[in-house]
Amino acid sequence: MQDFLTIERAEIKKRSVTERTKDFREIYELLSKDDIKEQASRCIQCGDPFCHNKCPLHNFIPFWLKAVGARADMRTAFQISNESNPFPEITGRVCPQDKLCEGDCSLNDGYGSITIGAIEAAVSENGFRNGLKPLFSAKKIDKSVAIVGSGPASISAATYLLRAGVKVVMYERQNRAGGLLTYGIPGFKIEKEVIARRVNWLVEAGLELKTNTEVGKDVAFSELVNSHNAVFLGLGAELPNRANISNETANGTIMAVDFLRNIQKKQFKEKLDKDINVANKNVVVVGGGDTAMDCLRSSVRENAKSVTCLYRRDKFSMPGSKKEFKNALDEGVNFLYNAAPRDVIINSEGSVIGLNMQKTITSDKGARQSVEIVKGSDFKIDADVVIFALGFTPNIPTFLAENGIDINSRGAIVVDNFYRTSKAGVYAGGDCMRGAALVVMAAADGKMAAAQILKDLSL
Ligand SMILES: Cc1cc2nc3c(=O)[nH]c(=O)nc-3n(C[C@H](O)[C@H](O)[C@H](O)COP(=O)(O)OP(=O)(O)OC[C@H]3O[C@@H](n4cnc5c(N)ncnc54)[C@H](O)[C@@H]3O)c2cc1C
Ligand code: SF4
Repeated sequence: MQDFLTIERAEIKKRSVTERTKDFREIYELLSKDDIKEQASRCIQCGDPFCHNKCPLHNFIPFWLKAVGARADMRTAFQISNESNPFPEITGRVCPQDKLCEGDCSLNDGYGSITIGAIEAAVSENGFRNGLKPLFSAKKIDKSVAIVGSGPASISAATYLLRAGVKVVMYERQNRAGGLLTYGIPGFKIEKEVIARRVNWLVEAGLELKTNTEVGKDVAFSELVNSHNAVFLGLGAELPNRANISNETANGTIMAVDFLRNIQKKQFKEKLDKDINVANKNVVVVGGGDTAMDCLRSSVRENAKSVTCLYRRDKFSMPGSKKEFKNALDEGVNFLYNAAPRDVIINSEGSVIGLNMQKTITSDKGARQSVEIVKGSDFKIDADVVIFALGFTPNIPTFLAENGIDINSRGAIVVDNFYRTSKAGVYAGGDCMRGAALVVMAAADGKMAAAQILKDLSL
């Protein structure tokens, strides 16, 4: 319990910049068994653990840390971790831990928080290597649930429904399951085999997965409602926010997820929606969040000539995870702070050649810094490709209104405290309900919605 006084928080090893920017493989190395034990032994086993409270899944973090830290009992740690979390090897990799569990760790006050995320991922990977698998119910119940979408909210809901023995049919319009885990978040943060492995376990457990099937187009929503005991909507939020500046759709501009999805499709050797080649080009990404970092770092790997991030606030207001910002910086990305685009400059053929910019000043007024344009501060920057990463709002398929499913003013599906939409038997969670958020929040929604569905079906 006093180990934190003698053992320092280990920084997780990364592949060298030169090596990792040549490919889209993960940059972080997994902790070894010895490192897991040593790092976990730093946990002081707080009576009221802040890490557990801050984790959206309320994982029993000190329990699994104790199992591995005190007893090197990897099996128990695996089981506890996989109980409250539908995919610990995924959240351990992609959660912004500095803003969640690790940010609230009691040791984050001078000693360095426990490396919770890295331990979480490594415990599961170690278990898989030693033949452990997530457990599902052998009994089958004569009830079925349709799930629309296959992102983390849906995978989570499916996991807890399958664990209870309910039949689950999942509809996904893309070629592969996983939502943004598969077609958004780049492989250098999470390799695609990790997601496919989880999905395959669900299929082994009885999940009926229908890919290339868009609900509302290939199959009617009413058909799902009529043939299942409940429906869960995990539609995501992929509608990109616009900059609302001139020429923002010119040749050479692209929206962040379209860009990232195309790179992923290229790697899967799938048909591209819209190709954009950034090799030997000057790439400018507008936005300062995690999605922007993903586009910047992907452009580096796609051999862009220069890669620049434009952010309208200052460096300290960057909304994303600090580790992703640091990774982008290390990988050679240029950052231009307090810079707002005024319009996209195009040539006579209508292709992007740069951006007219304005400087901004930020001042602390209220909860968030306000941004003001500095008069007469116009300047230009060259660009061959401009990627907009300005956040997302939920898409609104027409079948929602047609079926009396209420939407709020932000375009998100309205649910009550129990994940129920305004249509009886239809539930929703993840980004389509809360707006663009995080994998772990989608996972928590899916888990709680599944629990509510089971309760409402008296199971
Ligand atoms: C580029 C990027 C990077 C990100 N990085 C991180 C990160 O590092 N860490 C983190 O925690 N979060 C990250 N996020 C956020 C995270 O990916 C999302 O919050 C999360 O994926 C939301 O899960 P979801 O299940 O609600 O929706 P999604 O993952 O968006 O999945 C929704 C799925 O539903 C399918 N679908 C929609 N409509 C239909 C229909 N009518 N019929 C059939 N299928 C349909 C879609 O094709 C999609 O596959 C990132 C987001 C982006 C865009
Ligand atoms: S799920 Fe995310 S927030 Fe929760 S313990 Fe794991 S890494 Fe931390």
